[in-house]
Amino acid sequence: MSTTLLRDPSALEGYARDVSGLRNVPEAVARPESRDEVVELLRQAAAERRCVTAAGAQTSTTGASVAARDWLLSLRPMARILDIDPVRRIARVEPGVLIGDLQRACAPHGLFFAPDPTSEEECTVGGAIACNASGPRTLRYGPTRPHVRALTVALADGSLYEARRPTVEKNTVGYLAAQDAVDWFVGSEGTLGIVVDAEIALLPVPPRVLGLGVAFPTEAGALAFIVDARRSAVVHPRCLEFFDAASFEIVRRAMDDAAWAPGAQGMVYLEDAGADEPPLDAWLALAEEHGGSDADVRAFDGEQALREARRLRHAAPAAMHELAAPFLAQGGRRMSTDWAVPYPLAAAALAEARRITAAHGVSPAVTYGHLGNGHPHQNFIARNPADVKQIEGAIAETLRAVIAMGGTVAAEHGIGKVKSKWLGLQLDARAMAVARALKHEFDPEGRLAPGNIL
Ligand SMILES: Cc1cc2nc3c(=O)[nH]c(=O)nc-3n(C[C@H](O)[C@H](O)[C@H](O)COP(=O)(O)OP(=O)(O)OC[C@H]3O[C@@H](n4cnc5c(N)ncnc54)[C@H](O)[C@@H]3O)c2cc1C
Repeated sequence: MSTTLLRDPSALEGYARDVSGLRNVPEAVARPESRDEVVELLRQAAAERRCVTAAGAQTSTTGASVAARDWLLSLRPMARILDIDPVRRIARVEPGVLIGDLQRACAPHGLFFAPDPTSEEECTVGGAIACNASGPRTLRYGPTRPHVRALTVALADGSLYEARRPTVEKNTVGYLAAQDAVDWFVGSEGTLGIVVDAEIALLPVPPRVLGLGVAFPTEAGALAFIVDARRSAVVHPRCLEFFDAASFEIVRRAMDDAAWAPGAQGMVYLEDAGADEPPLDAWLALAEEHGGSDADVRAFDGEQALREARRLRHAAPAAMHELAAPFLAQGGRRMSTDWAVPYPLAAAALAEARRITAAHGVSPAVTYGHLGNGHPHQNFIARNPADVKQIEGAIAETLRAVIAMGGTVAAEHGIGKVKSKWLGLQLDARAMAVARALKHEFDPEGRLAPGNIL
């Protein structure tokens, strides 16, 4: 069965944006329901020399799922969970499956998919693979990359390519970059091929997880608590999430808990997922060392409470999106940084970022994120294009400082179109040449996701 290309302007408008605020109405949209239909569309695109941009749920914050030109290919209709093998702890899925749906399907088997972008109820497995998404639990389990076992990818010429991770424990077949084809596609943002089938690894659900929200009278105390928690031999967090005073206020409101440490300057949400009873006393003692007190701790115990904690974590980015919404029509948008530094340097990097922000005359950012991985998100609201330019100036200078500290310009949301101008800060000319060579090998005419990454 062939897929039609939608060309009705009102239908196309629904695919014109992702969450970055960029907008471009595609010339046509395809909604294939099978890999055969994807292949057929790519062949048609090749024959007509059209560009194709893949899209999952379009929650990208970088413009990666906005088609810069020609066709957009929505993978959402390909949303079948093809197999869950509880013995091998592997799932096979189509790319359009939402991560939240996958988690619900795995739960009866006592298994879960470790990557947990905050957007997991809205974003697809294909999008997470293409962005190498990560989340709070990345602290313990790593980003999406190590959890991908095999991929079937439809290439620009309409052929199918199978990539499977080598399972040998020793391997000396030359250059590392050529040893594992799965790694080429994870994080490639739709620029090398379109994932039509993924085999992913699952993990056993830990027997007991305890979530704690710990408020601190000073931000420095909260940040030092995070560093010490990572270095501790007694506590073993699987996530360490930071909220500055402004984002903690958003959480407090979402919880309807005005009494929770109203004067606090920082809050850390952590999860302890040991095999035994969580070392609550050790956590409280560590908090106390940094100015926290028992009265300023909220516990999230049990499945429902942990789900509630995730909802609260999600409240911060969701609130920032809402704040930006009225400014979209006049060229404004939410602007969020995605830089990271080695985790012990996070406090110094944040202080430098704030100094730079102030020097550029930009209003202070609302800051939260994965400080356990040295990875905050600074959130700015740009009301118009002039604000965008001013904020970009502050971000560019911050990124130079971050790179000087051994950091990265993009820790989890990818490069997309918004951040490609900053790639050269991090990758030198040879690294860029290797990236271009890979792109050329798979997509010599540059027809897949033009504008993303390179
Ligand atoms: C509120 C909010 C919170 C977020 N929190 C996080 C977070 O904690 N961590 C994080 O990493 N990200 C986060 N994100 C960003 C985003 O949700 C993730 O990058 C997500 O993985 C994108 O999935 P998607 O299905 O929306 O993909 P899309 O936005 O549709 O696409 C993203 C990229 O993947 C490509 N793509 C999509 N499907 C395929 C496919 N089948 N084959 C090849 N390429 C494909 C697209 O071309 C594009 O380049 C957040 C976003 C929001 C709005």
